Amino acid sequence: MADRNVALCLAPLASPDGFISQVEAKGFRVSAHERLCSPEGLELIRSMSGPLVVAACGPDRARGLLASAAGDNGREARFIDLYLTPDEVGASLVVSLGGETVSRAEGLEPVQDAVLVVGGGVGGCRAALDLAEMGILVYLVEKNLGLGGIMARLDKTFPTLDCSICILGPILVDAASHPLIEVINNAQVTGVEGSAGAFRARVRQEPFYVDQDKCSGCGACAEVCPVILPSTWNLGMKPRKAVRVLFEQAVPLCSAIDRENCIECRLCEDACERKAINFDDEPRELDLDAGAIILAAGAKTFDPARAPEMGYGTVPGVITNLELERVLCATGPTGGEFLDPRGRPVESVAFIQCVGSRDMKFNPYCSGYCCTASVKEAMMIREHAPDARVHILYNDLRTAGKGFEELALRAREEGIEFIRGLAGKIVPGPDSKPEIIYEDMKRGELGRLVVDLAVLAVGLEGSQVNIRFGNARLIKDGYGFIREPNPFLRPLYTSVEGIFTLGTVHGPRDISETASEASGAAAEVAAFLGRIAKRGA
Ligand code: SF4
Ligand code: SF4
Repeated sequence: MADRNVALCLAPLASPDGFISQVEAKGFRVSAHERLCSPEGLELIRSMSGPLVVAACGPDRARGLLASAAGDNGREARFIDLYLTPDEVGASLVVSLGGETVSRAEGLEPVQDAVLVVGGGVGGCRAALDLAEMGILVYLVEKNLGLGGIMARLDKTFPTLDCSICILGPILVDAASHPLIEVINNAQVTGVEGSAGAFRARVRQEPFYVDQDKCSGCGACAEVCPVILPSTWNLGMKPRKAVRVLFEQAVPLCSAIDRENCIECRLCEDACERKAINFDDEPRELDLDAGAIILAAGAKTFDPARAPEMGYGTVPGVITNLELERVLCATGPTGGEFLDPRGRPVESVAFIQCVGSRDMKFNPYCSGYCCTASVKEAMMIREHAPDARVHILYNDLRTAGKGFEELALRAREEGIEFIRGLAGKIVPGPDSKPEIIYEDMKRGELGRLVVDLAVLAVGLEGSQVNIRFGNARLIKDGYGFIREPNPFLRPLYTSVEGIFTLGTVHGPRDISETASEASGAAAEVAAFLGRIAKRGA
């Protein structure tokens, strides 16, 4: 019985005794705490061994903290939300505690056509969950090994500076464990035939060379693997092995072998107690039938090497804002220590706004997210290095959004220096540090600034979706973003009936806008499937 444990928070329960006896009647052992999200409560969770059910408050409260404590040793935990109604808690109890005896899928037969969601970032997962909660079967296709997209790489979110993976992690776990969502990771949609209500998508899933059903993500294989490579997930700043999990909190948390770099020493095979390594694994071709498709494949960030005057890749200490997020993250390359590329503590930073955005040479549009992202990152730097000098060189500071301008005001109060100035170029300065030469728009003169780190706030670009849609034409704008035929009244529709869109795949957006669109797209698709069903009746 050692692996049938429930960590129970007493705070939400008026009369915990009845709940505890229900749970114990199912053969589980309950360890209760007055407040599970307190340091002592989290320590209790960490001390519990084996698969775990955490019964506490819901995903919008302390779920991130609880999930991170429960997942500390790589295990997957299930959650029961005690703030639901008594009936819902009862149902959740059956689903989560039934374990071997109650199928999670019981009573959850799909009620409508399936939907294909392309892209497993925050938007794709939110839409998939909303659809699944409506009883609709979802195929969630993600090109990476794990779900989460760019948000999973961020350290904090704006404007509240909350831990990004603590907010995202529970959604990813919920999507991956929902009985009506089939996650197909390490996969791409290669073509779509058919029409609205009756699409058939061809999906190619690359081999993992590790049996995903057997692998627990324990990492024993990576420990013995002798091949060390730069981790693309950490933007090349952290080493990884030829066999690895994508990152510590990845969902699903399973290893895969990078066969291009594997030297086939087979040490991992001996190290894996679960016998999960499988060198005979092969690609899978899947044909998925879906009534509708949601494109949620995200955008790509502007490659700053296209603007060589910014010194990216040639001047040490010039990095992108996404690289900075990894540097500041506790699970990043420096373990959260704020160091420059030479391993020295950072004492001065300058953010360069609009790299690749609002620039006729590249993209004339505003990428929207980057001004507030830089303000947020400046505040994060304050937490890591309170005495560091932090400058933001901007053209116009655009902080439209709930709580964004307030964040910028706080940043000014905390001594972040905002310089209205356009960076012209970045060259190696004294001690090979980045020297920024800029036009000071207030003084009307050239300015020079030498810093330890110059952070390029790179813009967003489209063209993540290259799917062939039979005879239908998915229209994109000149920058690779999907074009909506009616952006005012049908912003989530595309030029192909039955194919919907959300998030940055159709233009720059931030996380909350993407999440709102995801729920909007799910609702549009459910209504659309209803209309199609009536048409066919
Ligand atoms: Fe652990 Fe085996 Fe999976 Fe490697 S392949 S993480 S050793 S279970
Ligand atoms: Fe690493 Fe490949 Fe050797 Fe396994 S066989 S330990 S993945 S190099």
